[in-house]
Amino acid sequence: MKRVYLDHNATTPLHPDALEEMLPYLRDAFGNPSSIHWFGQEARRAVDRARQQVADLIGADPEEIVFTSGGTEADNHAIRGIAGRCAGSGGHIVTSSVEHHAVLNTCRQLERTGFRVTYLPVDENGLIDPAAVAAAITKDTVLVTVMLANNDVGTIQPVRDIARLAGERGVPVHTDAVQGIGKMPVDVRRLGVDLLSLSSHKIYGPKGIGALYIRRGVSIDPLIFGGHHERRRRAGTENVPAIVGFGKACEIAGEEIESVPPRIAALHDRLQQGIEKRIENVRMNGHPELRLPNTLNVSFSFLDGESLLMNLDLMGVAVSTGSACTSGSVDPSHVLTAMGRSPEQAHGSLRFSLGRGNTAEDVDFTLDVLVDVVRRLREISPAYRESEAEDPERNAADRPIRTAP
Ligand code: PLP
Repeated sequence: MKRVYLDHNATTPLHPDALEEMLPYLRDAFGNPSSIHWFGQEARRAVDRARQQVADLIGADPEEIVFTSGGTEADNHAIRGIAGRCAGSGGHIVTSSVEHHAVLNTCRQLERTGFRVTYLPVDENGLIDPAAVAAAITKDTVLVTVMLANNDVGTIQPVRDIARLAGERGVPVHTDAVQGIGKMPVDVRRLGVDLLSLSSHKIYGPKGIGALYIRRGVSIDPLIFGGHHERRRRAGTENVPAIVGFGKACEIAGEEIESVPPRIAALHDRLQQGIEKRIENVRMNGHPELRLPNTLNVSFSFLDGESLLMNLDLMGVAVSTGSACTSGSVDPSHVLTAMGRSPEQAHGSLRFSLGRGNTAEDVDFTLDVLVDVVRRLREISPAYRESEAEDPERNAADRPIRTAP
């Protein structure tokens, strides 16, 4: 059965070159990078090389990169690490209502310990207003954390402007760049941020590894205590094979940044145009221009995203109803509701996220399957039938056609 994977914002397949690079460190090169002997130094060199590769991708210095267990830990480290410096001072954090749960739930936890958090609203395209960030900053604000690109709808936030405004007020800025990395050029100096989170498995590297960029001079508490690893900023013996694979994935992402995202953007447009042309009652979610090249989020009126997802899956097409981390939950996407979508529109949405392995044939296959699935589900949707009854003028050609089960 043909299978098409359109869920690259959830995770990506491991790049074969990253796997090749990792294999020696899963077999013979098993040393502990903290050991002084030859075995240890071999592993140390591999970790150092990977650190350079990660740093190069985002325009940082290697000393500014701390390896973590992934994007979630990087977000936790950034927020709790800054908050820890100000414990007891009744600190205040500014963030947005569309952040990933790795940020939102970390902020909620800090609220339980006495911090105050402002969750800024977004407009109907999911954009944060930098002026609103500046206005929310008070003398107690210890951190602004705003994501670079949204995982559900792909909207790219004006992080550079936000960092400038916060910087003028002396407040450090963290950005969760997990979804932006590899899909758009990211340069920490140009962005002007103090802290930036990355995750390997979103860029064709292995899972369970990521990094936090900490600008030189920024003072931040560790999240994990123990030995002197990572310049005392993250204790625990390094996951050398994963770090090596992550480094290679970063190198490839940097080499492909000019060629792959535009190719994926063309596939995205083909998919969007196909949906708009062939399916009625749809609404695109996310900013029309300021968005990731690979992410298409669509609301299908009268339908439930979970049913759409399951039926597409049965036909070989893998998509998501929003953030992978909330799949299985019945709550509508907090991102779509923050953008002002009704609960019905939010429930009836699908996220298609394309990747470097997708082709035009994948898109055309997906469109054929989707048209069929939407037609079949609308046929049995009471809401759709009601809307039809209220609109006798609707063109007969638009009506769902009964297809064999
Ligand atoms: N931040 C964003 C924007 C994400 O999309 C994700 C993963 O979905 C994460 C953080 C968490 O990253 P990880 O899976 O590496 O913990």
